[in-house]
Amino acid sequence: KFETPYGFASAGFVAGKLKSRARFSHKGTYGHALLIAGAYGKMGAAVLASKACLRSGTGLLTTHVPHSGAPILQTAVPEAMCSIDASDLMFTEFPKLEQFSAVGIGPGIGTKPNSQRALRELLLAKPGALVIDADAINILAAHPEWYELLPEHTVLTPHPKEFERLVGPFADSYTRLQLQREFSQKYKVVVALKGAFTSVSFPDGNVCFNTTGNPGMATAGSGDVLTGIVLGLLAQGYTAVEATLLAVWLHGLAGDLAAQSYGYESLIAGDITENLGKAFCQLK
Ligand code: AMP
Ligand code: MG
Repeated sequence: KFETPYGFASAGFVAGKLKSRARFSHKGTYGHALLIAGAYGKMGAAVLASKACLRSGTGLLTTHVPHSGAPILQTAVPEAMCSIDASDLMFTEFPKLEQFSAVGIGPGIGTKPNSQRALRELLLAKPGALVIDADAINILAAHPEWYELLPEHTVLTPHPKEFERLVGPFADSYTRLQLQREFSQKYKVVVALKGAFTSVSFPDGNVCFNTTGNPGMATAGSGDVLTGIVLGLLAQGYTAVEATLLAVWLHGLAGDLAAQSYGYESLIAGDITENLGKAFCQLK
């Protein structure tokens, strides 16, 4: 039985989860991720998450975007296939899920009724591996009756404000941690509560604190990059627990490497993605 860690994550533990690539493998070996992201005026989130997903080793990526966002995504991320919604806003539909090994939803999708409908449909469709972030968390928080629909081992990546929307106000960080553990246990999900020393809680109630990362990562789009990494790892068949622990570690390490070139002030989210390769190499 796989024991989830309790306490602080270590490079050794995380590195031990990394899979090697077989010489005769091909892109079909590494899964096909579906990312549902972006809206008119928020395509940057879709671009950041898509690039990070591809840099995390997924075999294929399809990003579902609103009609108006397709030229942006196709230009900025030519490696991604584009699934183009009929609507200029988000969303009226998304592709059939059977072909995807993991699904991610949230970055930049807004909280309008069509995005709400999309999230509900997705939860009902029960994808095998799922990461929910950003506006998808905000939508979920506005519909607590949907919590029961969360497929087992879904990954949620809220920042503190999004987490507060999910569970309600809390007096202090100890209570917050208790609420996080309870949420994970009750709904059998993995929650990465982001910030300095991101805490990852597991369905068994254990919690593990990440130790990589720096204040330079407190910058727009940083969380969208993390969503892409989680999705890329889930698509390759990592379990929700492994994908989340690896993703937060690699994301923080890539941020630390980026800070060596840019310092905390100048670091922007795309720099984290640019340093992901180095982070993978360093972890091995
Ligand atoms: P978001 O607020 O969704 O853009 O997510 C911010 C991301 O940056 C999360 O992955 C955080 O863990 C990371 N981050 C923000 N501030 C810090 C910090 N002071 N130290 C380490 N990581 C941080
Ligand atoms: Mg975010």
